[in-house]
Amino acid sequence: MKVFTQINDLKNELNERKVSNLSIGFVPTMGFLHEGHLSLIDTARDEHDLVVLSIFVNPLQFGPNEDFERYPRDEERDLSLAEKHHVDYVFIPTIDVMYPEESKAVVQITKGMDVLCGKFRPGHFEGVATVVSKLLHIVEPTTAYFGLKDAQQFAVIRTLVTQLNFPTSLVGLTTIREADGLAKSSRNVYLSQTERDEALKLSEILQKGKALLKDEGQDLAQLEEKLKTMLRESLKHGQIEYFSILSYPNLSSITSFNTQVIIALAVKYEKARLIDNIIVNQEGQQVERIDI
Ligand code: AMP
Repeated sequence: MKVFTQINDLKNELNERKVSNLSIGFVPTMGFLHEGHLSLIDTARDEHDLVVLSIFVNPLQFGPNEDFERYPRDEERDLSLAEKHHVDYVFIPTIDVMYPEESKAVVQITKGMDVLCGKFRPGHFEGVATVVSKLLHIVEPTTAYFGLKDAQQFAVIRTLVTQLNFPTSLVGLTTIREADGLAKSSRNVYLSQTERDEALKLSEILQKGKALLKDEGQDLAQLEEKLKTMLRESLKHGQIEYFSILSYPNLSSITSFNTQVIIALAVKYEKARLIDNIIVNQEGQQVERIDI
């Protein structure tokens, strides 16, 4: 495994390998790796000749009052996990390498920002779209892998890659969970024990929602309200930021269950904001992988 901090060093190395027609699977992350990241790496490993992992906590996607400064970081542990999972190249740039001068060009997302995280984290997805564009230009992968845990992010990147003609395929993979159902997240370390115990309700309600969709999906507004009330009543510490049922990947309002849907939620705890979702196809099955 080789570790690169400079864009040109990585590009030179990859260009040499691309001459031999090797395919590249790319996994962009912000580090503090857990099994969710590792499932993306393992799938990329199975499906490509070379695996590139990037680790970069992107300041552009954090709002002024968000947790950029205290986002958990552990480079040494990340590198050892990457090596164990047979990553070929790790790209771990500094902020100066990624943003050497004042930012004068960003990728703007013009639709779908009025729902879910887009509504509550203004500017977040522009930061994501900008850094992902930069990383895709740097790595030029055959396929980039993302988690469906960040389902709106995957929808945004799908739009970016298809509408702006990036020559990259995309794969979205299912959310990896703790044994009790809590979605793995780098931010889970910020939960107190009581918050952690309570947080398993989030995935329980999503599963309940999936079960109810078929029977009660003729009136999604009513089902959404019912599930939201159930969630609210089961939380003593967390505050619901949003709870929505929308079409996926378009993220538009729908009145009945006649298309693929996402049930998505965000709950705020004292030091961590948790998001989770489930994507359910028209047949009522949970969607575990999306290829674009
Ligand atoms: P992050 O480091 O949080 O930016 O995440 C990097 C990638 O890992 C993103 O594509 C995430 O959607 C994905 N990811 C994060 N948590 C999980 C999880 N629990 N299961 C699957 N993928 C995940």
